[in-house]
Formats: sequence, C-alpha cells, structure tokens
Amino acid sequence: MEHHTALGCMGKERTGGIYMKDPFHFLSHTSKICRNCGHPVLPFFSLGAMPLVNTFLRKEDIPLEKRFDLTVGFCSSCFLTQLMITLSPEVLFRDYVYFSSVSSSFLSHCKKTAREFIKRFDLGKENLVLEIASNDGALLRYFQEQGIGVLGIEPAKNVAEAAKTQGIPTIPEFFNYAFARKLKEEQKVSADLVIGMNVLAHVPEISDFLKGVSYILKPQGTAVFEFPYIEGLFEGKFDTIYHEHVFYFSLLALQNVFKNAGLEIYDLSMTPMQGGSLMIFAAKDGVFSVNARVRTFAKRESKYGYDKLATYRSIAGRAQKNKTELLALLKNLKKEGKKVIAYSVPAKGIVLLNYCGIGENYLAFSVDKSPAKQGLYTPGVHLLVHPLAQIYKEKPDYLLILCWNIADEVMAMEELKPFRDRGGKFIVAVPKVKIY
Ligand SMILES: [Zn+2]
Repeated sequence: MEHHTALGCMGKERTGGIYMKDPFHFLSHTSKICRNCGHPVLPFFSLGAMPLVNTFLRKEDIPLEKRFDLTVGFCSSCFLTQLMITLSPEVLFRDYVYFSSVSSSFLSHCKKTAREFIKRFDLGKENLVLEIASNDGALLRYFQEQGIGVLGIEPAKNVAEAAKTQGIPTIPEFFNYAFARKLKEEQKVSADLVIGMNVLAHVPEISDFLKGVSYILKPQGTAVFEFPYIEGLFEGKFDTIYHEHVFYFSLLALQNVFKNAGLEIYDLSMTPMQGGSLMIFAAKDGVFSVNARVRTFAKRESKYGYDKLATYRSIAGRAQKNKTELLALLKNLKKEGKKVIAYSVPAKGIVLLNYCGIGENYLAFSVDKSPAKQGLYTPGVHLLVHPLAQIYKEKPDYLLILCWNIADEVMAMEELKPFRDRGGKFIVAVPKVKIY
C-alpha cells in the first residue's frame, strides 16, 4: 500500500524534493553473477537507461542528470530475480526524507501489525523487538507502549534522529553481518523478533544481510519480512522496477536465499501493502515445522513456472504492449487538442514516463500534493511539478493517474470535484490502459 496523504502519493521510499549538493557521484556495480548463489544471471527485460526516480531536479541540475541501465535478470539456479546493475545504498538511502508517521493510514496499519505480533509471539517485558529500517519508529512505538523492549536500525540519519527524539532507541546504521556481530558481542543484543518492512528488496548484499539476521536472532526467535510480491510483474505492474529495488521475490527464490543464511521460511501471508505484498515468517533452520500454507504457495509458484526463465520473458512483451497502447491514446488526444497532465509523480510513475518517453511531448505539466516535489522537475522527462491548484487554473481535459494503486481514491477526491463536474476524465495506464 502506498500512502495518499498530505505528502502526496508515496510509499516508504525516499521521496523527491531533495537534491544533493553533488548528486551524480554514484558507485555502481554490474553483476553477471547471482547475488545469492554465484551462478550466471540472464537478463530478460530492459527498461533502458533510467534516471534515479526519486531524485527531483532544480532547473540548474538538469544538464548534470545521469542515467543508469535498468535491466532485470533471472538466476536459473536459485530462481532469484535481480537487477543487472545496482547502485550504492549509501547514495540511495542515506538522506531518505520520508517519515512514516506522517501517514495516518500507515500508522493504523502499524498499530494493527504490532497488536497481532504481540499476541502471536506472546511478547512481554523480557523480550526485544528489533526492526531494520525502522524509519521514525512508527511501528516500534506500539511495542514500546506495551513495555516490550525495542531497538531500531535506520540508516537515514535525520530520520533515526527523529525516532530518538521521540524516545525510540535507534542506531543510525545499515544492517549487515558485521554490524549484527558487533551488536551481539559488544552490546549483548539478541532479538526475539526481527522485523523488516519493505527493506529486503533494497539490500544488494542480501546473503550477508540475512546472515546478520540469523546471528542476531535468539534460538526460538522469528524474523518477519514484508515486500512487494513478484506476481505484480506478471500482472503488468512493471513500473515497480527501479534502481532502489534490487530484487523481485518469489517464494521459491527466497526459500533458497534464506537457506543460504541458515534460515527457513515456516509461514507466510499476503497483505495489501504496495498493491500486493508477501509477508514471510522465518526462523533458524529446523526450529519450527514449515506449514501447509508455505508448501501450497511454493507448489503454486512451480505450477506457474516462477522457476523458469521462459515465464519471466513474458514481462517484457506485456510492458511493450502497455507502452504502445498508452502512446497511441496520448497521440490521439493530442490530435484532438485535449490537454493531458500527470496526476502525482511517485517513483513508479517516473519509471512509466521514462520507459514510454512521455514528457512535454504529451503532457502539459504534472501536479503532486508533496510540497517537497513542487517547483522541481521530474527525473528524466523533466516535467515541472505544480501544486494541485494548477488544475483549477489550467483546466486540463484528462488526468493521467500515475499512482494507480490508489486510483479509485484519487478519482473520488473532493478537491477534484470541479474537474469531474466539467467533464474531466481520468487515464490509468498500469496494469492496463483504461479511461474513466
Ligand atoms: Zn542464484
């Protein structure tokens, strides 16, 4: 689930509106071998050269903007889908400016999750919950309220600082094996529950990361991870592919990745987060028996060919078809003299616009609720971002809704009543091109 709040359409991603002083010094890493098992990775879908979708630009930064190859590959040995080129997390996540606690719908999700986990794992004062990428402590605070010990690990220093100010113990670091060792040996920390929401797909050194998780877990402890499920790619949601997402997980792949770190997935559930996420429960190998849900889920993936490269090749064809249809529609509207604008500019929307080559050629401008993005230019296609009020001034005929996961919510928005009343229409492009 992405959150539609006063800050606009965004998920738990570093959002725009931030420009770095020296924004284009990146370390990148090309991988022809699997990040989990070392076997060759074969590319199956390239989105071309893509800018950093969360780095919005000032006018003077536009000529400096860089693009990096965005190609996804598949390992036929462990079934892990991964980017062929990855960028340094140090660059991508150190100055993340999104604060979880800003979104009220996200907070109620946190409260519900904490309540469920406290009951399920029978957590009390003697226990410790460790959250990786804990943001401003939005989730941990609900454990802390019940007297349970908490510790957050959050690499974005400003966000970690905000958590500490609110009394949530937080270490401003990246989590990995060396860090876990240090934490356990020097500070005697070990966890009953490790939580990682929307973080696993972002960690290039995933084996090292999970070895750290295994190391910091108590013998009977559980690690819970939630991440967008790979099924979305087969459903045409290809715009969730960008540099921050190094991996696109199937259960079959994750079982192999966890095994490599001495961990075993024993339970799972699907959640509506990010338009379809998988939540998995893992423990040290052999501690708990793997339940029927996991076995059934794995069988279903095998049946649909999630372990075969040929299955992944269909993703490119579907994306291409989507691009052709959207471009044809926009060309027609242009011919008819209609004015089309982009409604909201989330990371995935930036991917779509760049992949399709849609900028000022078809769109008059873009709007976004996030004040941090307003007045800046969108990555790659360089549309100026306006506040919503621009819709009343310029009176566009169509809004291209880029935050498709909350399209229903957008179409019903009170602020857009005047637009609807004068016959304004909506276009949703992903997973299918449709006019409303
Ligand atoms: Zn592999």
